[in-house]
Amino acid sequence: QSRNYFIFEFTSKTAMQQTTCLSGLAFMALVSASVTQVHIGLSSEAVGCKDGVSVAFASDSTSSLEVKYGVGATDKSATTTFSHYDINSPNYTYSSPTFHTAMLCNLLSNTQYKYTVQDFSGSFKSIPEASKKTVLSVVGDIGLDVIGDTVNNILSDLKGSTPDAIIIAGDWAYANGCHKDWDKWMKSTQAMFSKVPMLGINGNHEVIVAGGIIHAQPECLSEMYTGYINRIVTPITPEASKDFRTWYSKDIGNIHAIFLDDYTGIIGPNNIGSDYWFQHRNQQFEFLKKDLASVDRTKTPYIIVFKHNTYYSSWVKHQCQCSSVKFEIDDPESCWKGNYYMNQTAGAGELGDTRAEPHCGLQAKFEDVYMQYGVDAVIAGHVHCYERTAPIYKNKINPDGITYITVGTGGHGHYQGAISPIQEWSKSMSDSYYGMSRVIADDDKMTIHFRANGETTTLFDSVEIPRRKSLLAKHYTTCFFTLIGIWYFAMMFYCRLVTLLVVLALAIGSEVWKNWDTRQICYPETHLRPSSLAELQTIVKNSDSIRVAGRGHSFSPIVLTNQTLISLENLVQLIEFTQDTITVQGGMPLHVINEILAQHGRALPNVGAVAVQTAAGATQTGTHGTGNTGAISAGIVGMEIVVANGTTVHLRQSNLLDAARVAMGTLGVISSITFQHVPLWTMEQITFTMPYDEFVMDLRKLQQTFERLQWYMMGLPKDNTVTVLLRVNTTAPITTGCWNNTFTSVPVTPPPLGWSQWPDSVKSCVDVSYKTLGRVGENNTKLFTEMEMMVGAEDDLGGLEKIMQLHADLAASHDPSIQLFLGVRYVEADSIWLSPFYNRKTAVFSTILYAGPENVTKELSLYHHGMQDIMYSNYQARPHPGKVNYFTAEMMQQVYPRFDEFVALQLEWDPTGKFMNEYTKGLLVVQTKSSNLLTIPLSILGGIIALGIFSVWFQQYRRKQYYQAI
Ligand SMILES: Cc1cc2nc3c(=O)[nH]c(=O)nc-3n(C[C@H](O)[C@H](O)[C@H](O)COP(=O)(O)OP(=O)(O)OC[C@H]3O[C@@H](n4cnc5c(N)ncnc54)[C@H](O)[C@@H]3O)c2cc1C
Repeated sequence: QSRNYFIFEFTSKTAMQQTTCLSGLAFMALVSASVTQVHIGLSSEAVGCKDGVSVAFASDSTSSLEVKYGVGATDKSATTTFSHYDINSPNYTYSSPTFHTAMLCNLLSNTQYKYTVQDFSGSFKSIPEASKKTVLSVVGDIGLDVIGDTVNNILSDLKGSTPDAIIIAGDWAYANGCHKDWDKWMKSTQAMFSKVPMLGINGNHEVIVAGGIIHAQPECLSEMYTGYINRIVTPITPEASKDFRTWYSKDIGNIHAIFLDDYTGIIGPNNIGSDYWFQHRNQQFEFLKKDLASVDRTKTPYIIVFKHNTYYSSWVKHQCQCSSVKFEIDDPESCWKGNYYMNQTAGAGELGDTRAEPHCGLQAKFEDVYMQYGVDAVIAGHVHCYERTAPIYKNKINPDGITYITVGTGGHGHYQGAISPIQEWSKSMSDSYYGMSRVIADDDKMTIHFRANGETTTLFDSVEIPRRKSLLAKHYTTCFFTLIGIWYFAMMFYCRLVTLLVVLALAIGSEVWKNWDTRQICYPETHLRPSSLAELQTIVKNSDSIRVAGRGHSFSPIVLTNQTLISLENLVQLIEFTQDTITVQGGMPLHVINEILAQHGRALPNVGAVAVQTAAGATQTGTHGTGNTGAISAGIVGMEIVVANGTTVHLRQSNLLDAARVAMGTLGVISSITFQHVPLWTMEQITFTMPYDEFVMDLRKLQQTFERLQWYMMGLPKDNTVTVLLRVNTTAPITTGCWNNTFTSVPVTPPPLGWSQWPDSVKSCVDVSYKTLGRVGENNTKLFTEMEMMVGAEDDLGGLEKIMQLHADLAASHDPSIQLFLGVRYVEADSIWLSPFYNRKTAVFSTILYAGPENVTKELSLYHHGMQDIMYSNYQARPHPGKVNYFTAEMMQQVYPRFDEFVALQLEWDPTGKFMNEYTKGLLVVQTKSSNLLTIPLSILGGIIALGIFSVWFQQYRRKQYYQAI
C-alpha cells in the first residue's frame, strides 16, 4: 500500500549515483555552472569516509565536478557524484537542479580546510578528535520565517564557544511537498552550512505532511522523505537511503550523537501496524541497542540522542499517552505496537494519533535502553517551544536519568498553552522565544545553554550534565581490579611505587593524560584548553603549578603533572606571514605550518621524521631532522611567552631568545612562535643497504658528497646490514612523489665518486622538501620507545663501534620479539643554551625498541642505560630531553656550557617553580652539598631502622621455629 502512494516519479539519489559515478568520471566537466545550496555534512566510516565531510551542492552541470580542498592550499581533490529528481503529477510538477556530492575523507581533526568548486570557494573547520572538547548548536523546526536571526544565533559566540557542528532536530524547510521551498531554504542556509558541518534527522514535515494527510497547498504532493533524502547528506548507506532507514550515529569529538527517526516505517496513509512499519521500528531499535553497546565512553564520554519528537513535554499539543496517567506507560509492548490510550478515547487524528505522534510507542522500548547505557540527553524539536527537564527515568526525577530538551524554536511559529499541573521534572519552559541550544562538552561536564535569538548576554536557560560517574566508576572499577592484578605481579618485579600510584589515581577517577607511547601517564587535577591569549594569561597567573602538553610525542616524563595541565589545541591559528617569516600560535601542528608555507612556495629549512607535533612542543625539546641546517628551533626568530605572573614576554633578536628556544616548557607557556622560512625546494630521497664493514669504510666518502645523510640498522643483534638514507637537492621533476610509497630503482642523482653504480638495493623518489624529509605521522601506530644521545659528529664511528659491542654483549638475553633500531642522524651546531646541538656539529645516536607498553621494561633499561653510559662517559653526550634519558642536573651541568645561566634565568622568571615538574627538576636542580650531606646520615639512619626491624622479625621467626621443633 505504502509503495502505491508514490504517484510521482522518484529517482533515488543512490541509483543515480551508481550510474553517474561511472559516466561522470568519463565526462569530467569543464562546463561552467554556478554552484548554490552548498552544505557541508559530517561523514563517517559507516559510508567509507573516515574522519570526513560531504560537500553537497546544486549546480546546473550534469557531469561530475571536482571539489578542490586542502589545509593551506587546495591541493587535494574529490570528484562529485550527482543526481536529481522529478515530480510529475497532474497538478504539480517539479524538476530539481542537479545535486552534487563530493566526499572529503581522512581529514585532520580540528583543522581549517579551504575548498573550491567551480566559482564557489569556502572554508570549514573539521571536528575535534575523540575525547576533545566539543561544541554543538542544536535547533529544530527552522523554516524560513526568521531564518537570518536563527542563523546568527547558531553561529555566534556563546561564552567563548562557536559550534564545531550544527544539528537540526527535524523539520528543516517546511516545504511540505512543494520542492521550490526546499531550494529557497537550502540557499538561505548556505552561508551557515557551507562553513560549519551539519547533521540532523528528518521530522514529520519531511515525511508525513501533505499528500492527503495534512496539507495547506493541496497541489503539492506528500514529502515522504523525498526532499530530505535527496538533499541532506548524512552517513547512511545507499541501501538504507533507498529503504528510508534514515537513522545513524556519529562520534563528534567527545560526543556520541545518535539520530533516530520517529517516523520510520510510515510511508503512506494506511500503513500503521503493517509489517513494513514493524520491521522498520524493530530495525531501528536493534540499531539503537547495538550502537549504544559499542560506545567507548573513554573516547566519547557523552551520549546525546537527537530525534524530532519529544516525549517528556509539558506543552498541550503533540502529546501521546499509553495510560490514563500522562507520561506513564502501562503496557510497553502494547504501546510499542501503537495502542495508544488516546486512540480509544479521543479518536485517531486527534492528539495522540499514532502516525502524527509516534514517540510514545518508541519511548516504551527506548527508555530502558537509554537508561541502561547512560544516555545523557535526548534533544528534540517538533513542539515550537523550549523546555528542559531534570534527569528523568519513568516519569520520575532520577539523578541517573536522562535530561530531555525540546528546542523546536527555530522560528516557525510558537505553540501556546501548557498542561496542568506542570510535572515537577519540568525545569525550564518558554513559549515566547525563538532560539537555539548550545552544547559545550568539556572533560568533566556537558553544559547545555538555551539562548534566544538576538540575545548577546543573557541566557534563558543553562544546565550542567556531569560526566557520568557511575559509568566512570564502572570503568575505573574494572581498571582498578585489572591493575590490582597487574600490580600484584609488578610487586614481584618492578615499579612497585609507580603502579601503586597508578592504581590509586585511577581509583580517585581524575582525568588521564598519556603520551604517544602510553608509557607516560598522569592525572592532572585540571586540564585546560584556553581559546585566547587573555584566557591563557589568566590561567597562568592563577595557577600554582603548570605543565603544557603539546601533542604528547615526547617519550620522557617531560609533560607530566598532577596539577594544572594546559593544551593549546584551541590556539592553532596563523598570525602573520611575511616574505621570510611565519608567525603561528604555539599549538599549531608542524604539518599545518608545512602546508601553509608550501602554498606560498616556501618551506622550513628542516623537519623531523613526523610533523604532528605542535610548533611549541617540537621546538621546546630541540626536535631535529638530519642534515646541514640545524634543528627546527634553530629557525626560530621570535617568540611570545606567557611567564609566571601572567604577563607576556616578546623575544626577538635577543640573547634571551637563545635561552627560550629550547627550554622544556620551564620558562613559561609559548603562545606564538616566528619561524624563518626558505624557498620550497625539491629533493630526491635515496635509500640503499650495505654490509656493515663496507659502510664503515665508505661513510666519510658518502658524507663528503651528501649533506643530508642518515643511517640505521633494523636487524640487530643478528643482522648488522646498514640502511643508508640520503636526501639530495635536485631539479628533477616530481613524478609519483614520496608519500605514496612508489619508488624507482634508478635514482636521478649519480652515485658518489669512486662508485660505478648505486647498490642493487637502491630505491628512490623525488618530492618537495618537507615530503622528502618526513611524513605527517598522524596515523603512526606502531608503538616504540626511543632514546637519543647527541655526541660530536666526529665521534660517530667511535661511538658506533662501542654501541655495537653493547649489542653483542646483550645479544644472549635479547627477546627476539622486540625489534631493535640503531641509527644515526647529523645536525648542525646552534647557539641555543639548552639545545643538545649547542656549539657542536652533532651525531645523534638513536636506540629504539619497538614494543608496546606492556613489556620491554628490562630491555629498555639495558639498551638505554647502556647507550647513555657509553656515550656520556666517552663523548660527553647530551640527551634529547623529549626522549628517554637518565640524566641528572649534575650531568647536564657538565655537558651544557650555559647550564648555570639558564637555571638562573628560569629562577628569575619563575621564582616559585610554577613551570617545573619532577622531570625538569631532576634535569635542572643541582643538589646542594648540604642536602647531599644530609642524605648520607639519613640513609644510615634508615639502614639502622631497617636492620632493627629485620632482626626483631628474625628473632621471632627463630623462636617460632624453636617452639615448633619442640
Ligand atoms: C613517532 C615519533 C616521531 C618522532 N620523531 C622525531 C624526530 O624525527 N626528531 C626529533 O628530534 N624528535 C622526534 N620525536 C620526538 C618529538 O618530536 C619531541 O619529543 C617533541 O617535543 C614532541 O612535541 P609535542 O608537540 O608532542 O610536545 P610534547 O611532547 O607534548 O611536549 C614537549 C615539551 O614541550 C613543552 N610544551 C609544549 N607546548 C608548549 C607551549 N605552548 N609552551 C611551553 N612549553 C610547551 C612541554 O611542556 C614539554 O616540555 C618523535 C616522537 C614520536 C612519538
